Amino acid sequence: MNIVVQKFGGTSVANLDCMQKVLVNVRRELDKSNKLVVVLSAQSGVTNRLLALSKQYSPNPDQAELDSLVSTGEQVSVALFSMMCKDAGIKTRSVLGFQVPIVSNSNFTRARIESIDEKKMLAMLEEYDLLVVAGFQGVDEGGRITTLGRGGSDTSAVAIAAALKAEVCEIYTDVTGVFTTDPNLCSKAVKLDKISYDEMLEMASQGAKVLQIRSVEFAKKYNVAVHVRSTFCDEPGTMVTQEDKSMENILVSGIAYDKDQARVTLTDVEDRPGISAAIFSPIAEQGMLVDMIVQNPSKDGVTDITFTIPRADLKRTVQILEQNKANMGWKEILHDINVAKVSVIGVGMRNHSGVAAKAFQALSDANINIMMISTSEIKITVLLEEKFVELAVHTLHDTFHLDKR
Ligand code: ASP
Ligand code: MG
Repeated sequence: MNIVVQKFGGTSVANLDCMQKVLVNVRRELDKSNKLVVVLSAQSGVTNRLLALSKQYSPNPDQAELDSLVSTGEQVSVALFSMMCKDAGIKTRSVLGFQVPIVSNSNFTRARIESIDEKKMLAMLEEYDLLVVAGFQGVDEGGRITTLGRGGSDTSAVAIAAALKAEVCEIYTDVTGVFTTDPNLCSKAVKLDKISYDEMLEMASQGAKVLQIRSVEFAKKYNVAVHVRSTFCDEPGTMVTQEDKSMENILVSGIAYDKDQARVTLTDVEDRPGISAAIFSPIAEQGMLVDMIVQNPSKDGVTDITFTIPRADLKRTVQILEQNKANMGWKEILHDINVAKVSVIGVGMRNHSGVAAKAFQALSDANINIMMISTSEIKITVLLEEKFVELAVHTLHDTFHLDKR
């Protein structure tokens, strides 16, 4: 059985017109006599509306009930689309997360998929040519509905593709693929034909929103090729795949940025074993993601520690630090939300030196001050004043000639 998995995002199923375009795609695939699994998101805006609605009824909603509520967006999409497909003479049915079942842990609102009953799906595919599966939702051991975090339909689709051993998972969206940088910010951005899993992970975690990070982790783990492409035009999009030799020859693949950042500095922290653990453990326990961390060399037994955190978590972070001040022994907390990260990403950096120096020189020529730096094997990230983001992205895009890719 040749199975194709396609996912359509919220803007692709936004209304009847859009769903008709999805139906054209589905027809084309079925005409090639493939069995098809289509994973749908909620219609665009619906998930946000449901989240806002919950707040009207409960300021701090129970997380399990919240999942029960927000998962309905996808239920609406799959029911409507299946009706249309039936009218068009296709043998199809809608399938909700619990009906597959897609079993997840019980971490409501950001659950992780644990297993998918592929035998049951294969049996359904014997009976139907098309299964329309609700993205974003799962069910825990106790039978309660869970959701997989914002953008989670990507992960539903990739996980289903992995379970069914589909060759590729096609992610249909409102852009034509993955770009060298955000085309809304830099008109010179160009679409990439392919990008490695690791680069895509860095792009996604540095703010590129086209795929949910977890879906890329899943694709990498199970070696599912992911094709990101547009619902609204036929051109091929971007393949997210395993690294190959041709990718290594390219120094830099993309520039990502993330404005959702805040910087925190603790001054005059005692320089002794256990201090970093005392500072960062309580923050981690709250599930908050600290990113860049810099500790200066100490002077007279004290030092400054600076780190970044998503802006929405700043208030809570400061509270936690203040509550635990006695164990941490700092003098002052400074914080700043007018900061942003800009990252240069490329697997070619593994075997080429000088990328960082070139990036720093270019930023200096543009008169941009770098506040913090962090690096990984395939990424250089700088923290800078938010007002410089656009200039920095343009400068780095030009410096590495990404418009010529
Ligand atoms: N509807 C969910 C969201 O808006 C999941 C998704 O669209 O991938 O985040
Ligand atoms: Mg999405």
